[in-house]
Amino acid sequence: MSAELILVVEDDERIGISLSRALEGAGYRTVWVTTGASALTEAATEQPQIILLDLGLPDVDGLEVCRQLNRNHPDIDVIMLTARDDELDIVTGLDTGAVDYITKPFKLAELLARLRAQLRRSDHASTSERIVVGDLVLDVYARRVFIDGSEVALRAKEFDLLTRLAGDAGHTVTRDQLMTDVWDEHWFGSTKTLDFHIAALRRKLDRPDAASRITTVRGVGFRFESSPIDQSGSVR
Ligand code: CA
Repeated sequence: MSAELILVVEDDERIGISLSRALEGAGYRTVWVTTGASALTEAATEQPQIILLDLGLPDVDGLEVCRQLNRNHPDIDVIMLTARDDELDIVTGLDTGAVDYITKPFKLAELLARLRAQLRRSDHASTSERIVVGDLVLDVYARRVFIDGSEVALRAKEFDLLTRLAGDAGHTVTRDQLMTDVWDEHWFGSTKTLDFHIAALRRKLDRPDAASRITTVRGVGFRFESSPIDQSGSVR
């Protein structure tokens, strides 16, 4: 079965790129467009399951795009991205047909959770509810982690961080990306909290006699290993 397709409509390049990356990291397919006109075209040709729609677009008002989408494609769910609280008042006060609303700045972990919830509600079978890496199984909906069938208790942020890393197993995720996705889009300053949480995950997930599941890539970030690595291959 192919992954769900998410259409991202966002004219801010930075947000568009990071959103697409995060969605693909979570197992979805994405199409990213920057205008309302292209959103309407792609909705018709690509038939996405969900559209993440920025309200402030350069050509057509996001509300009008939402109305047209709802009229022409009632089967596609629209989640509106709004920049300000007063915009949110407008969105929620009007019958636009959007199924959910997320206010910027948002945390990617929260957006992914809302997205999954919506996919579940609209009965589109999700491919990303479970992440399996070797003997580790992550149940994303239930927010539970198992190693060899035994549950491991994690704190909320530890779970979010593990989901981000294990969802991209085998690939290095940069410190900036982790801070953005797990903590806040607008984080600044110290990333000490990231190291603190990585240490906690290692303590809880690693076997004392084996190399860590999480490899430190010096000066870059961290990589959740997709297959067991031997001691000599670990980069600690
Ligand atoms: Ca915008």
